[in-house]
Amino acid sequence: MSQRAIVIGAGIAGLATAIRLRAAGLHVHVIEANDYVGGKLTQVGNSDYRFDAGPSLFTMPQYVDELFAVAGKNPRDYYNYQRLHNICNYFWDDGTELSTYKDVTLTAASIAEHLGESQDSVIKHLANSELKYKLTGKTFLEHSLHKLGGWLQSSTLKAISQLHKLDLHRSMHAANTARFQNEKTVQLFDRYATYNGSDPYKTPGLLNIIPHYEYGFGAYYPEGGMHSITKAVYQLAQDIGVQFTTGERVRSIEYGTRGVTGVTTEQESYVGDIVISNMDVYYTYRHLLGQEGRAKKIKKQERSSSALIFYWGVQGKHPALDLHNICFSDDYRAEFAAIGRGEVCADPTVYINVSSKMTPSDAPAGCENWFTMINVPYNSGQDWQAIAADAKKNILSKLSRRLGVNLAQAIAYEEVLDPIMIDHRTSSHTGSLYGTSSNSKWAAFLRHPNFSSRIPGLYFCGGSVHPGGGIPLCLLSAKIVHDLVCSKYQYTKS
Ligand code: FAD
Repeated sequence: MSQRAIVIGAGIAGLATAIRLRAAGLHVHVIEANDYVGGKLTQVGNSDYRFDAGPSLFTMPQYVDELFAVAGKNPRDYYNYQRLHNICNYFWDDGTELSTYKDVTLTAASIAEHLGESQDSVIKHLANSELKYKLTGKTFLEHSLHKLGGWLQSSTLKAISQLHKLDLHRSMHAANTARFQNEKTVQLFDRYATYNGSDPYKTPGLLNIIPHYEYGFGAYYPEGGMHSITKAVYQLAQDIGVQFTTGERVRSIEYGTRGVTGVTTEQESYVGDIVISNMDVYYTYRHLLGQEGRAKKIKKQERSSSALIFYWGVQGKHPALDLHNICFSDDYRAEFAAIGRGEVCADPTVYINVSSKMTPSDAPAGCENWFTMINVPYNSGQDWQAIAADAKKNILSKLSRRLGVNLAQAIAYEEVLDPIMIDHRTSSHTGSLYGTSSNSKWAAFLRHPNFSSRIPGLYFCGGSVHPGGGIPLCLLSAKIVHDLVCSKYQYTKS
């Protein structure tokens, strides 16, 4: 008889784990607290404006496609995507602006033209990013770091022998300052630290691996927006027989000396041989296992930053903007120092995602949907209503000035998301976007493993555990859990 697996939470990692385990032959039941699936990868809006609620940048689509391949389905029957030619438009307050492109040479030429940087420095930087990926990508991201087998792989041994090339001993900012002449170029490449909620002045230079995901593998747009990923993956899971219960919160994981026995929700108890928690690992220990001591240990690790988002329906068309846009702050160091103190500075860097540039039906004719986001600290009890009111004033003034529009008058629709709401909607401790931060060189090793060493049959996937947050890494966590389960219970690995 096949094992019964229960997945707690239908975030992208929970959905991916469910598909992989079902494809391997297990009976899989996903239990989700919300009455919708997708977790952070969901959508908001009204009948006029649609917004992707959380993630807006799609990289490594092959990891999503792989879910369909393991299930014997054609991903193109479920969803599609295109590679972006123009990756991002960058704006500074002094009027400087530039675009970056999928073509590295074009990007280097653009940075050279607008910032006076040598093309060679940009090309070398991106080549170094690729090298870092080649040395560490497979080793540290695709396997459990907490099993001996992972350390005995030849790729791991090679990475260890080349540790000196990984820039572990200086910060990303220090590495970028050594590479580039113009502080705007440094700022542009420092920004990649925010892709996993870290601080470029603290996170190690190894994180300069991130640009390779965008320029080497590419930035993509899924037809219909990011939420179409959730829709496609959910449909696939249903088509291959994953069972779903939504609107039911798991209250505890049941286990005995021989391992897990199931879960209990607000409504009933379910028997299972394997339990995979896609819930934030801190909350899993605290609320579902009642292990305060273990939870406290996890809590000691610094959380990643969070976000404050204004979903604005904006009247008028704004040709200066593309799908992804950044309006930088004047003082990046001060911005991150404020986040480190649990505050938000008066001149934050603003990210604007306008999916209606790609999917016109996301806004009424003649209008646009602006997902307007700033990085903010995780919630530690701040007054988020007051912070949001101040931030709104500052963002409106910055964008109106920079883009030459009266934005306050153009806003026809508004919804706000703050760290407390992120916590409430997805049970993400403190509302951090990516679990724990990568602000130390040991962060990768401190992330919780994908399995419990004390409770047989208990596994973990998602942004709060190894290898980390962001859709690609969440999908890799699902693959790691699948591999661990298959090798333990002798299922054929897909
Ligand atoms: P989540 O999406 O957090 O889902 C966890 C699920 O578990 C939720 O549905 C929750 O309701 C459920 N759950 C929790 N507790 C229980 C319980 N007790 N019982 C039942 N169900 C439970 N990533 C990118 O790759 N690109 C981006 O551009 C990007 N931008 C982002 C912007 C924002 C504003 C945010 C919030 C995130 C962003 N991310 C981005 C990060 C990315 O969204 C996350 O890393 C990823 O979606 C997390 O998925 P997950 O499966 O770990 O968990």
